[in-house]
Amino acid sequence: MTIKRENTDLDVVYNKAYINGRWVDSETEHTFAVNNPANGSQITEVPDCSKEEAFYAIESAYQAFQLWRELLPLERSNILRAWAMLIRERNEALARLMTMEQGKPLKESRVEIAGCAATLEWCAEQGRRVYGEFIEGPRVGTKIIVSRHPVGVVGAITPWNFPSSMIIRKVGPALAAGCTVVLKPAEATPLSALALAALAEKAGMPAGVFNVITSTHAADIGQAFSEDTRVKKLSFTGSTAVGRTLMRQAAAHVQKISLELGGNAPFIVFPSADLEKAAQGAVVSKFRNAGQTCICANRIFVHKDIFDGFLENLSNKIKGLKVGNGLEEGVDIGPLINVQAIEKIEKMISQAEAGGARILIGGKRHALGGTFFEPTLMIGARDEDLIAQEEIFGP
Ligand code: NAP
Repeated sequence: MTIKRENTDLDVVYNKAYINGRWVDSETEHTFAVNNPANGSQITEVPDCSKEEAFYAIESAYQAFQLWRELLPLERSNILRAWAMLIRERNEALARLMTMEQGKPLKESRVEIAGCAATLEWCAEQGRRVYGEFIEGPRVGTKIIVSRHPVGVVGAITPWNFPSSMIIRKVGPALAAGCTVVLKPAEATPLSALALAALAEKAGMPAGVFNVITSTHAADIGQAFSEDTRVKKLSFTGSTAVGRTLMRQAAAHVQKISLELGGNAPFIVFPSADLEKAAQGAVVSKFRNAGQTCICANRIFVHKDIFDGFLENLSNKIKGLKVGNGLEEGVDIGPLINVQAIEKIEKMISQAEAGGARILIGGKRHALGGTFFEPTLMIGARDEDLIAQEEIFGP
């Protein structure tokens, strides 16, 4: 099997799925394109894995678990540390790859990659210190001993908005605890996942311990994770709707499940606030990743006494934001992930305007075209408007 070399700053772009320590195509021979949202160009294609391949990856992880769980915590820790070091060394290349497939400004990608290395190191250290408990029992002569054991194979499903950190935050703790993992990354951003897997391999991760299946058949893969009783834990980050589905599916065999879902964060400005700092905080909170994070400020509530002053500060800062290709230095706002994201916010804006809200800045597609959208300031939306009720996921 060959691994295609691509013209990027990473030594190679891995465009195969990674199962049982091997870089593989889908047996169906189907692939799907990975595109750069900044210009619509195709970066590469990756295998479109099937449900059968998910079962095969689970089997690999199950076999690998028998060995991985028996390693000394120190041995697992050493591999995770080596992985963290490789990620840190390649920060720039990994960050560029992330920006290419996801669109976020390079400065944000660099921070995300640095965070991945730090998180992995933390997991490596925590994994070495697994403590139990010893408790006097309820009856004479009884003791209660609590000891901790890895649960087994973990199924992990991640979103596109943090293509690397959402993976490391699931995979790092699981591997440190002695579990093995099958990961299904988001369809839009599989390359960051595969690059992480390549570095895990380089760090000495044994075959089958960490598997990555790229696929457009998300529901099928989710079902494989829920149906296969060898998957003892499911960890999902993504939308609330999909989280609900997975929770229902997990109930069938009472599978352990962790969900990190959507948000609709309020940002509240009190009359005592330093208005300059408050506006700066709002901009940081709202515009990170072009507004596409689960913790972005979605609704800003301002006390009437300071409304005008805050608005002026905020307006000035929003006008200073630079929109563009995230690979260019100085860019603050990259493209949105796809055209559906644009259509969703256009609908929210027009619905709020119909209800009396007013656009002060932006409010439409950016002159750059594609999936670029203007940083927007709207006032007077009502609580019942879609834009106040649902996650905006736009700037
Ligand atoms: P999404 O549509 O729920 O997708 C997330 C992941 O689930 C993707 O890998 C997706 O695959 C997969 N998926 C979709 N349908 C599935 C199904 N029926 N069964 C199993 N997996 C399925 O969410 P998204 O649009 O990628 O991400 C944005 C959402 O994630 C937002 O709501 C955001 O708030 C949330 N989020 C939350 C956090 C947090 O920490 N709470 C962090 C980041 C993001 P495909 O990509 O192939 O569709």
